[in-house]
Formats: sequence, structure tokens, C-alpha cells
Amino acid sequence: MVDLRSDTVTRPTPAMREAMATAEVGDDVFGDDPTVVALERQVAELFGHEAALFAPSGTMANQIALQLVVPPGGELLAGADAHVVTYELGGAAVLGGISTRTWPSVGAALEPDAIAAMIRPPGYPSVPTRAIAVEQTHNLGGGGVTSLATLRALREAADTAGVALHCDGARIWHAHVADAVPFAEYGALFDTLSVCLSKGLGAPVGSLVVGSAERIAQARVLRKRLGGGMRQVGILAAAGQHALEHHVARLAEDHARARRLAEALEPYGVVQAAKVRTNLVPLDLTGAALDAPSLAAAAAERGVLIAAMLPRTARVVTHLDVDDDGIDEAIKVLGELLS
Ligand SMILES: *Cc1c(COP(=O)(O)O)cnc(C)c1O
Repeated sequence: MVDLRSDTVTRPTPAMREAMATAEVGDDVFGDDPTVVALERQVAELFGHEAALFAPSGTMANQIALQLVVPPGGELLAGADAHVVTYELGGAAVLGGISTRTWPSVGAALEPDAIAAMIRPPGYPSVPTRAIAVEQTHNLGGGGVTSLATLRALREAADTAGVALHCDGARIWHAHVADAVPFAEYGALFDTLSVCLSKGLGAPVGSLVVGSAERIAQARVLRKRLGGGMRQVGILAAAGQHALEHHVARLAEDHARARRLAEALEPYGVVQAAKVRTNLVPLDLTGAALDAPSLAAAAAERGVLIAAMLPRTARVVTHLDVDDDGIDEAIKVLGELLS
């Protein structure tokens, strides 16, 4: 099977398992796990922030961060296709009492002026905007990367209005590799970030919330309240440390494979290869004979797994566990089904 459904399907490498097996551990709820403490310090420093907090999932990291920047009854602005809007089960409303208003789906092609125009100042009885959330890279936006210039314009708008800026950086590693932007430059633009170790970086579990020391101290309380306080979790933090050391630069290989796959499928009219910037390849099946579930089912029968995201949109994702042969196989199978 060539599994291209998501970059979450990777399995820890032997070297990663070795790092996990030999990790020093302690009770992290007591603050006693040296590996977790070291990982949190490393990631905070990477993004130029004061502190970071290890969390079990990207969803929990996002939800903690949103609660840090938006008080109950406050408003979050986000894209209609954002992960925090579409894939977190209404967590902002249920867990944080947060009201969310969305701008229309534009993927990574944000329009800072249009977003700035949506910001509502405090004033009874309107709902005050307290934060804006963006996603880098953009998942439903086909792995698109928002440019540094656009993010800077958005930061200015947020500063002018006095609202916070959160980055759902589950795949910020891919943006760093695609656009050669240092992590600290991204870090300087956001009040809070969430980053995932278990997507393209290949760790089995783990995300972090990044921010000021004051906010991360509060994040620790929120994490425990959500049931995310973990004990000898250094075995997982060690996987994250290993991933940061060995699996960031190599993302360029995943990007090249995604581009090669997109170029091979472009003649079938389902993808524009030039738009594929990172490891996600969205397939637009509007004009195709097969819809997304049918294409996914037919490909699965031939040993290639892809994801049906919407009735007419499928997604192919490259990652650590797919090599050139796997991509050749996917090109052959998908090409036959699409022709
Ligand atoms: C995967 C993902 C997350 C976090 O997902 P979990 O499955 O909870 O780890 C958050 N944001 C984006 C954009 C993602 O793709």
C-alpha cells in the first residue's frame, strides 16, 4: 500500500524509536520531565518566544491558544476553511465560549485589508473582535504558503486594532522550507502559535503552544483542565527532538515529490502543478468522470490510498514514509483512473 491520505500516517523511524527508548523522563505534571522541559525550551527559542507547552494534539494546542487570546464572549476571526473552523468540532464555542466570524475561503491568499475591515471594536452591544487566526501552511488551501509581506500587513492591522494574532502552524515547517523564512521571523509576527510534530515531521504524537511566559503559564492550567496533563511523556518529547533535528530540511524532498506528482497529473485537468508549493496536492475532480469517494475507492483497490476531502475534491499528501517508487506507483494508478 502507498498511503498518501495524510502526513499523519508516518511511523516512527528506528532512530526515532531509539531516541524514545533512551529518553530521560519524569512526571511532567510536576514539571519534572527533563526531556519535555528541553523540547519546550528549544521550540520557544526557535520561534523567538519566551515559552512553549507540549500538548497531545494540534487541536488541543489550537484550542488552548484560542482561549489564551479570546475571553469568553469575545470574537475570533478566521477563514471559513480554517482547521479551527472546520475540523475542531466547534471547540472554540464549546470549550472557550468563543464566537467565531469567518472570511470567505481564500486558502493562503489572505487579504489583510478585507480582514482588517471585519474587526469590530469593543462597544456594547456588539461582539468585540479579540483575535485573528491564520493557518501556515493552509491545509484546505492545498498546502499554500502565505507570504511574509502579507503576514506583516496583517500584523500591522492587528496592532492598529489591538487584537491578537494566532498562527495555526501545524505545518509551519513546510512554509519555512518552501519560502526560506526563518522560524523566528514567523514567531515575531504572532502572539501565539501552535506547531505539530506528528504531521510532516514524523513524530507519533505531539504539538506545542508557543507564546509569552505569562500566556504559557496560563496555557498549563488550560491543558490540565482539558485532561492534557501527561506524566512520563519525555518518551514522546524525545521523538519530537529527534524530528526537529533530522526531519525538517528533508521536507524539501516531500515538496519535490508532491510537485512531480502534480506535474504528472496536470494533463488530466485536476491540478495546477505551479500552485503546489509544499506536500499537499489537492485534486479538483469537477470535470472528472469519478468523484472523490469513487476515485479514492478505486485507487485503494489498486494499492494507493488518497483522501476524499469533499465530494469533488481529493487530496494526495507526500511524507516521510513515501519514496520515489511510491510516487511512481501513485502516478501510474491515478493516471489510469483519471484517463
Ligand atoms: C492536523 C492539523 C491540526 C491538528 O490536528 P490534530 O489531529 O489534532 O493533531 C491543526 N491544524 C491544521 C491546519 C492541521 O492540518
